[in-house]
Amino acid sequence: MFDTLQHKGRRKKLLEQLLSKFEFDPRVIEAMNRVPRHMFVDHGLDNLAYLDKPLPIGAKQTISQPYTVAMQTHLLAQRAQKFDKVLEIGTGCAYQTAVLAEMGFRVYTVERQKTLYMLAQKNLARLDYHTPLLHFGDGFAGMPKFAPFKGILITCGAPDIPNELLKQLATGGRMVIPVGTGTQRMVVIDRISDEEFTRSEHGDYKFVPMLSGTE
Ligand code: SAH
Repeated sequence: MFDTLQHKGRRKKLLEQLLSKFEFDPRVIEAMNRVPRHMFVDHGLDNLAYLDKPLPIGAKQTISQPYTVAMQTHLLAQRAQKFDKVLEIGTGCAYQTAVLAEMGFRVYTVERQKTLYMLAQKNLARLDYHTPLLHFGDGFAGMPKFAPFKGILITCGAPDIPNELLKQLATGGRMVIPVGTGTQRMVVIDRISDEEFTRSEHGDYKFVPMLSGTE
């Protein structure tokens, strides 16, 4: 599978469509323009990859809708800069991981399902993304060995804000986390100091649930 002119054209159209809905940070749009989303989904879904829709990636999980990826990356990029450490929970097919890598972040990502962890490795290697550090494990634990993180991005619906992840957020850093069961509020937590956090909400979304343990 290649990134043909036709794919590039469809991708550009999708990004224009996203920009007509929200004024995303241009760096986010440029990063998404460099990632061939169709190469993260099944061959048979190739022609659906540039619709603003979530798609199945196996193991009852989905690749997030492009609008959602753009919004989460946009919110994160208001705090995290190039070369900052960013932790992603819920690697899935690693599309969002690739977008974060294109933003210039040093990416650490955790997936709890072995088959998706392996799919993510394959997808990233094939496209020459060699810098993200992939970890198979339960994202509720984060990656304490590499903390603190300037940005923490959760790509599954969390029942609440996991305390362990708050601990791994750097002062001056930001967590972007969909909170709730069924539908989720996009919650942004900024760490102001050791003890102080602020919270804001950014609309309703629908994510697959954040589950504990591994499988
Ligand atoms: N960012 C992904 C989204 C995949 S859907 C993409 O672009 O494709 C969310 C993912 O979160 C699923 O793969 C699911 O297995 C994973 N997940 C759910 N709970 C988790 C947890 N506690 N730790 C790590 N990953 C988790």
